[in-house]
Amino acid sequence: MFKKLLVANRGTIAIRIIRACRELGIPTIAIYSTADKDALHVKMADESVCIGPAAAEDSYLNIPAIISTVLTYGADAVHPGYGFLSENGDFAEACRRSGVNFVGPAARHIRLMGDKPRARRIMARHGVPVLPGSEGKGVVELRDAQASARKLGYPILIKAAAGGGGKGMRIVRNDTELARFFPLARAESEAAFGSRTMYLEKYLERARHVEFQILADNYRNLIHLGERDCSIQRRHQKVLEEAPCPVLTPKLRERMGKAAVRAAKVVGYSNVGTIEFLLAPDGEFYFIEMNTRIQVEHGVTEMVTGIDLVKESIRLAMGEKLRFTQRQVTYSGAAIECRVYAEDPDTHLPSPGVVTNHHQPGGLGVRVETALYDGYQVPVHYDPLVAKLIVHAENRALAVARAKAALREYVIDGIRTNIPLHLRILADADFQRGDYGTDFLRRFEPAPVPVEAPRVAGRAS
Ligand code: ADP
Repeated sequence: MFKKLLVANRGTIAIRIIRACRELGIPTIAIYSTADKDALHVKMADESVCIGPAAAEDSYLNIPAIISTVLTYGADAVHPGYGFLSENGDFAEACRRSGVNFVGPAARHIRLMGDKPRARRIMARHGVPVLPGSEGKGVVELRDAQASARKLGYPILIKAAAGGGGKGMRIVRNDTELARFFPLARAESEAAFGSRTMYLEKYLERARHVEFQILADNYRNLIHLGERDCSIQRRHQKVLEEAPCPVLTPKLRERMGKAAVRAAKVVGYSNVGTIEFLLAPDGEFYFIEMNTRIQVEHGVTEMVTGIDLVKESIRLAMGEKLRFTQRQVTYSGAAIECRVYAEDPDTHLPSPGVVTNHHQPGGLGVRVETALYDGYQVPVHYDPLVAKLIVHAENRALAVARAKAALREYVIDGIRTNIPLHLRILADADFQRGDYGTDFLRRFEPAPVPVEAPRVAGRAS
């Protein structure tokens, strides 16, 4: 058993990890920035240490400050959660070099999957389907992107090789858009990830985002825990997720599950991870990336499998063997997660401020993971995800009804949230039928201003 675990994160996931540690009997240390001195994760941990000012680079992303806190306070394990340093190979390596257990995969797996063109190449080589895309190590110059585009044909999605969180991504539908948006996407990637390397992928229209949860120990035992449908997205960022995916047949689930297991196995992966696929309307599916950490939406998988993924990730990092075989994993009912963001529901601009009145819903099958409390000041500095409402019921229709009832009961006064958007999604007839793809939320957005390709006489576009 670990002696003491440092939680290298904040917000809902820090609280989630602290709860898992309490059940396992592992004392915790919270770290926090000066902006987070009153945060719930700080109050809940056994010890807490201020590691720097509000700016994430100086606090939650400050590897030397975190490692020295780990060593000074005698922790023997670090859980990175999601976001911040969770997919930073240097951080995983710094932990291991300092003799500290990193709750996650090896640094080499983080680095490999963090290099998306490389991950694509490895998957393709091992028979895991990928979408047609630019070949090689990535594309930096516009002329190379244009050469790739000529081979691929439009529509194309420009992506950042080091991407994450939908940053550096642009859909382009013609040469003009490519010339205009490639440099913008590259600049966004440089600002967010310090990398100008991009790659292109054929853009799949009306696809669904279907991802498989992986669980693996250090002894080459590797299973999946079924899928999540995360197609309800805004600007390529997930908003609402559900398990199971409403359109997967048992046969397709088995094929995709096998491909996910193969994808993680060929690289010798261990701990928790997620293989993300796009599922085309014709039933074909394609690997898009692997996330080498716990996901925001892990809760829906926990509800339908009954397996606590955060506790499992800690056990696996302690060197325990996987406690289930693939056949022992069973699924029950349907679960839906609504990500509650502190943002204006119309403009999507962040809405920081003081929570003046807070009531969270409850009852059978209702789970709330929140960082909010009465009087809490939501800071401006970080991701606006402030709560996750997760519901579970015997079937999807009952889960939708339960999610609606719970959202109507939810009171978060003082700040704006996207709860009204969730209610609109849940009330939508197509959503209720399970008939949606990654473009679903566009119907709730004002129409974008189109970029017209210049008409060139005699040339087909
Ligand atoms: P990130 O790591 O930035 O989240 P992903 O590669 O996981 O980027 O893609 C995010 C989302 O973008 C996907 O869930 C999907 O909705 C959309 N997407 C990614 N690749 C494609 C593609 N080739 N065609 C259509 N949509 C895509």
